[in-house]
Amino acid sequence: MKCPVCTKQNRPGVIVCEYCNNDLYTALLEKVSTKQLDNDRERMLQISKTMPSSNPIVVYIRHAPEPIAISRLGQIIFGREDVDDKTVVPDIDLEPFDAQDLGVSREHIALDAEIHPPTITDLDSYNGTFVNGERLTPQAPYTLTSGDEIRLGRLVIRIFYDG
Ligand SMILES: [Zn+2]
Repeated sequence: MKCPVCTKQNRPGVIVCEYCNNDLYTALLEKVSTKQLDNDRERMLQISKTMPSSNPIVVYIRHAPEPIAISRLGQIIFGREDVDDKTVVPDIDLEPFDAQDLGVSREHIALDAEIHPPTITDLDSYNGTFVNGERLTPQAPYTLTSGDEIRLGRLVIRIFYDG
């Protein structure tokens, strides 16, 4: 993350510039665009810039053109939608990012966005979930640190939050 004020490069996950103390999380939020979904989870994915006390969780998906923002409400399932079987529809569909080829399960992780700090839980995924290289125990919530690198099979995402 490059600081927009002093232009120095900070380590991933740093939300206050280590060189000039500029607030990098706010800069991250400004890069986020609203993600529109066509189901009833849409409200959870709206950016809540008007509610500074509940800043959204920001998710970077490797090779995605822009990050997505997740409001701090409820539980969000990350996985991939199967065009032939719509019985499982994840809240965040990673199929546009080659999820199937990269070994993402249809319901891979649950992000508990409402609690603080947020947690993720591997949902007995076929290829596992790794945080900073360590494999998670299935069905056991893991407390995230902002900036953690999370690997679903071989698909890499990074999750940021403030507070
Ligand atoms: Zn700076």
